[in-house]
Amino acid sequence: MRRVAISLVLVLAVALLAVAPANAAHRGHHLSHHHSHHGKVVWDSTSFTATAGQVAAHGRVPRGRAKVRLQVKLPGGWHTFATSRSSRSGRFSIAGALDWYGAHHVRVSMSGRPGFKRSTTVNVLTSYAPRGNPADHAFLTQDGIRYSFDPCRTVRYVVNADDVGPAGVQFAQIAMAQASAATGIPVRYVGTSHQIPFQTQQTRLPGRQNLLIAFADETEMPDFVTKSAAGFGGPLWYRPALDGTRHRVWETVEAGVVFDSTRWLAGSYDWSFFQSARPNWGELMLHEVGHAFGLDHSPATDEIMYWQAGHGVYPDGQFRGLYDAGDLAGLATDGLGQGCFHRVGRFREGARALVPGPQPLP
Ligand SMILES: [Zn+2]
Repeated sequence: MRRVAISLVLVLAVALLAVAPANAAHRGHHLSHHHSHHGKVVWDSTSFTATAGQVAAHGRVPRGRAKVRLQVKLPGGWHTFATSRSSRSGRFSIAGALDWYGAHHVRVSMSGRPGFKRSTTVNVLTSYAPRGNPADHAFLTQDGIRYSFDPCRTVRYVVNADDVGPAGVQFAQIAMAQASAATGIPVRYVGTSHQIPFQTQQTRLPGRQNLLIAFADETEMPDFVTKSAAGFGGPLWYRPALDGTRHRVWETVEAGVVFDSTRWLAGSYDWSFFQSARPNWGELMLHEVGHAFGLDHSPATDEIMYWQAGHGVYPDGQFRGLYDAGDLAGLATDGLGQGCFHRVGRFREGARALVPGPQPLP
């Protein structure tokens, strides 16, 4: 009965998000500024709501069959996010997901000779008006260096929902879609897990998993009781790297998030994501996932990353699992705007290449 109710609420919430005012007024066809005898690009879609649209273009390259790329400009270079091939006559169409809030410089590019490039600005919109102040965020750091996933690698995540059932997986997927749109880091759900993070400092994730989202009870995770927390999150393993502008960064290679399944079953928080009259699991999920992506606590009560759940009530008396302006600004810094990472052996002599993460935060 409860499971059915949760599923219904989720379906409704997702449907609402999908049809929310998409600010799609700017849709239209515009030719790129350079008309050329040597090819052309028509941009079919350059403005859309994150996760509900994509960048699309068609046209003709000044050559026959060739590889055509859709690229976004990052510090340190252009990053390809879709590829296609032109026909014998040079005609092509290309489309790619760019679920990354903000205005971005995007181009269609064909390498070789003659080369061909046409660029435009793409606007990826939020489906809601974020509350709060963009300055209200803080980063997890060590020696003044931020922790972050490499924004150019897909974060492959698994969910251990053994204690709570499929709703736990659905909640995790909604949280991850929001984190992905805020950071621009692609994410992929790769299946279930039976593992629990943070029980020891040496938890390793198998295969190519980068993030474990788990539910565990209070005997499996006594810290839920001793630290009076409904969840924990943070990096599990990290290594030194340089970002696109060659600044030092701790590359999070594996991260973990764990929630108190005892409180889930007891109904300590509302089983909803986007709207409820009391604090909900959506807010909690976003909060711990925020730690996994490199955010520390915010001092402001109207941010998801405020240290305590339950203070983020909206003026209409509702609680919402939506990242606020400070959260979004912090996640943007820990995202694709850093450029692609380059791994380095060590920052200083004697430092280890792969290091266990700090204590997870509640
Ligand atoms: Zn926290």
